[in-house]
Amino acid sequence: MPESDKTSDILPSVVNAMRNEEQSLPVMLDTAASQDYLLSVVVPMFNEEHVAPECMRRLKDVVEKMNCRYELIFINDGSKDRTLEALIKNKADNPHIRIINFSRNFGHQIAITAGLDHAQGDAVVIIDGDLQDPPELIPKLVEKWRQGAEIVHARRKTREGESRFKKLTAKFYYRLLKEISDVEIPVDVGDFRLLSKRAAQSFAQLRERHRYVRGLVAWLGFKQDFVDYDRQARYAGATHYPFLRMLRFSLDGISSFSILPLRLASMLGLLCALAGALYAIYALYIKYISKTAVLGWTSIIMVVLFVGGIQLICLGIVGEYVGILHDEIKRRPLYLIDDIY
Ligand code: UDP
Ligand code: MG
Repeated sequence: MPESDKTSDILPSVVNAMRNEEQSLPVMLDTAASQDYLLSVVVPMFNEEHVAPECMRRLKDVVEKMNCRYELIFINDGSKDRTLEALIKNKADNPHIRIINFSRNFGHQIAITAGLDHAQGDAVVIIDGDLQDPPELIPKLVEKWRQGAEIVHARRKTREGESRFKKLTAKFYYRLLKEISDVEIPVDVGDFRLLSKRAAQSFAQLRERHRYVRGLVAWLGFKQDFVDYDRQARYAGATHYPFLRMLRFSLDGISSFSILPLRLASMLGLLCALAGALYAIYALYIKYISKTAVLGWTSIIMVVLFVGGIQLICLGIVGEYVGILHDEIKRRPLYLIDDIY
């Protein structure tokens, strides 16, 4: 059990009181300015056996030079390969490294959440485990935090090693989401970022299952800042976001932060009803005035197909949101932990 957990077992009321004090008196907290702060780094890992050793080595190199206390939290998200073994082997009794082993694969966004739940740092950095986000950028994120930002996003200037299609759709998607969402979600920002303790604790209160972490972080507010970087290609292995999973993830982003699609559905419905009414008038005209009623089979079929199509789309959109309600209402825990090393 880590040192700080023991403390909270012995003195829970004192620790809670301190936490409450921190929450209500943020201005008096000056951890960011002092050298003596605890830096947590949260790293989700899914089938990364070939990257894990290099990732741990580079992260350790960076944080050990930073002249602060640190903890590295790796979340093994139900890997099917030997990621867990690689992590345990490279931990090598280092007390600053913790490995949270999930009972199965719960997904990238949930793995990040578990890391944030367990991080105790004054500043918490979230970073992908495939080395697409360079650990060497962490000092820059910390610097912005020390200058007063509560949330520091690493913003992708370029994306190496990713297909043209992914880059193009990502660019379009981020901008669309920004336009239609109810909170201001920054563009070209992934999950590589730093959260102050206060921001991390606030984030931990958001327990929705369909989580789009970058949107939730934007929802938190607080003072936010950016550091630009060039996104690298993966160190090894392949992306775990093939097209369909990426689509699912993107839809989560939209449905979690915008009801515009629902509105669009009702607007389309209205439009259809209007067109239907106009067509009814036209039909009456054909029957009673021009008296050529048998004509018009093509147009009827077209209208039926068009209206039917729109109805199905609207049903689908409503279904998306109903599906989310169905998932959320079960109130299952977000993840289960098999073991912590
Ligand atoms: N990941 C995870 N669980 C998953 C899928 C991915 O923990 O179900 C981790 C993965 O190991 C990596 C990070 O999340 O460290 C980002 O995943 P990936 O590189 O596949 O996404 P991409 O960078 O291609 O968007
Ligand atoms: Mg990646």
